[in-house]
Amino acid sequence: MKNISDFFGCMVFDDRVMKANLSAEVYNSLRKTIDKGAKLDISVANAVAAAMKDWAVANGATHYTHWFQPLTGVTAEKHDSFISPSPDGGVIMEFSGKELIKGEPDASSFPSGGLRATFEARGYTAWDPTSYAFIKGKTLCIPTAFCSYGGEALDKKTPLLRSMEALNRQALRILHLFGNDAVKCVRTSVGPEQEYFLITKEMYEQRKDLRFTGRTLFGAKPPKGQEMDDHYFGVIKPRVAAYMEELNEELWKLGILAKTEHNEVAPAQHELAPIYTTTNIATDHNQLTMEVMQKVAEKNGLVCLLHEKPFAGVNGSGKHNNWSIATDKGVNLLSPGDTPYENAQFLLFLCAVIKAVDDYQDLLRLSVATAGNDHRLGANEAPPAVVSVFLGDELNAVLEAIETGVTYEGTKKTQMKLGVDVLPKFNRDTTDRNRTSPFAFTGNKFEFRMLGSSNSIACANIMLNSAVAESLKIYADRLEKAENFEDTLHEMIRKTIKDHKHIIFNGNGYDDTWIKEATEKRGLLNYRTTPDCMPHLLDEKNVRMLTSHKIFSEAELKSRCEIMLDNYCKTVLIEANTMIDMAKTEIAPAVSSYVLELANTAVAKQTVDALISCRYENDLLKKLSRLEEQIAVRAEELEDAVLKLQSAGDIEEEAYMIRDIILSKMCELRVACDEAETMTAKKYWPFPTYSDLLFGV
Ligand code: ADP
Ligand code: MG
Repeated sequence: MKNISDFFGCMVFDDRVMKANLSAEVYNSLRKTIDKGAKLDISVANAVAAAMKDWAVANGATHYTHWFQPLTGVTAEKHDSFISPSPDGGVIMEFSGKELIKGEPDASSFPSGGLRATFEARGYTAWDPTSYAFIKGKTLCIPTAFCSYGGEALDKKTPLLRSMEALNRQALRILHLFGNDAVKCVRTSVGPEQEYFLITKEMYEQRKDLRFTGRTLFGAKPPKGQEMDDHYFGVIKPRVAAYMEELNEELWKLGILAKTEHNEVAPAQHELAPIYTTTNIATDHNQLTMEVMQKVAEKNGLVCLLHEKPFAGVNGSGKHNNWSIATDKGVNLLSPGDTPYENAQFLLFLCAVIKAVDDYQDLLRLSVATAGNDHRLGANEAPPAVVSVFLGDELNAVLEAIETGVTYEGTKKTQMKLGVDVLPKFNRDTTDRNRTSPFAFTGNKFEFRMLGSSNSIACANIMLNSAVAESLKIYADRLEKAENFEDTLHEMIRKTIKDHKHIIFNGNGYDDTWIKEATEKRGLLNYRTTPDCMPHLLDEKNVRMLTSHKIFSEAELKSRCEIMLDNYCKTVLIEANTMIDMAKTEIAPAVSSYVLELANTAVAKQTVDALISCRYENDLLKKLSRLEEQIAVRAEELEDAVLKLQSAGDIEEEAYMIRDIILSKMCELRVACDEAETMTAKKYWPFPTYSDLLFGV
């Protein structure tokens, strides 16, 4: 058994490698850039590039790439080798500071939602020195941001970094008001819990739906699903254990803090959680993790499905975004402290989050919106599409006591007076109600649970950071002008609780009565689908907030809205076309062949003796013939509906047509096919069934 600490991060150009391979002067300059965002001198960049190249070549790399996160949601890379011709006919390995800092990939095939046409045809990538370079295969990967020449972000990293900076700026104002002058930097941290399915590659290959769309578009319910609850935290099968072992090792080599692994609720479903880290690094790492999960699966004859809903009837996969804010002194601002003053500060940050989630419910909802995630949210396996905050009974009681000014009836009766009383220690609430909440306080962090398993966590964190920065800005503006700091603070906290308590819900989020209460009594938003929520990105209040903190320009927001809707439409269209193809070329012919066998059998029986019963064959023949007809008709209807999309005036209208017509036609076609599956002899069925897939590993 290899010692983990011997190889952990061996593929990363991390602080240890920098220290060992850079002169003290270069190292110190680089550290300043990493820690404080100081501009990097070209001579320093040259020295760093040379050291990086030597290290990479020594570790087997031949190429380098600027590794970036375009709006497709996956990562992109274009490899260039280090070689450069030498006069003697050979080559030398070269890599300059200029090449490290800036790249110019041909950007024309990445989605830009009109941004590139409006501004400049090409884009460039710029090194993010706060995220370490690493080696993947034979390539040195340099984490970069991706922008147009006009400076518009064409990726997910740029706005994420901007949102972290906005939150840093506003949080520092608050901390300085509390006298924490020594704090120079505030950062958000994230630990994303990643769910996934594993199936065998052999079966995967036989299903066009899985290959083209990542999810099953057909499949009758298997005799056994997740009803026994025997998979969750169950014993991990040897083949899966071997996969997890190799996966961990690969992730550790990349410096990714893979920590927890277990079986999830659905059969064939598993989860991986890393130890939390700074948000932009956590985002890079999560993208890498998803990539490595798929690669390692492939090597093991498996396929890792990251789709939000690969199988109907069993749980889908999500991603829990555990989020907190901490200072450079290591103080978690979402952790109740030991002194009255620390607690007043904690309550203010807590209120900032509550206010942010309420004011920007729509942004949080749309930050996780994809065609895939629409299948999960509100389906009793994931939080509803209604955003609310869970605080737990204890913390809730404290807030109520503050709001009403009455005595807090907790473990110790106290009149809650900010800046005077010490808060009681909160026990971590781990009730079931907590687990059904979209946004739960879990002791010293918030867990945002609406993300889909394939989502980049960038989007959710951009919105979360920005919205909280906005709350803090409003608070700081008032407090900086306050005559009496403590009175103003107390009043502000009280007002926040009063104005925003309708977003706090400590009950069961899976309960239908909650949706009724949330929407009818409390007036919370309920955007059920991607087309419902996405256009609200351009609502005036949202544009105002996001542009004022310089997270996005208005043009960037318009482009993103368009790209996300376009992505939704394309995703569902590929699914619809795959269904039509499978129904016509695989399912209908299979049913037809079986019908023929039944007919032949009946005829053969009758020839032997007209008195032999053919009831079984006759009944089944009738049923299957009816289904055959339905399959043909419904496939045609779906085809027609797809054709009609061409009449849509714009992408928004197309998305509405898909939501209202295409998805229901897909459902109707599926129902007929799934019913036929339950009556067709197994040997005729053209691809592996749910039983095969879910219990095949
Ligand atoms: P669970 O939510 O399953 O009870 P944990 O609370 O142990 O599990 O943590 C889940 C995830 O939250 C892990 O990725 C962990 O690293 C992360 N996490 C823990 N503390 C923090 C924090 N202060 N900020 C951000 N993430 C955190
Ligand atoms: Mg969790």
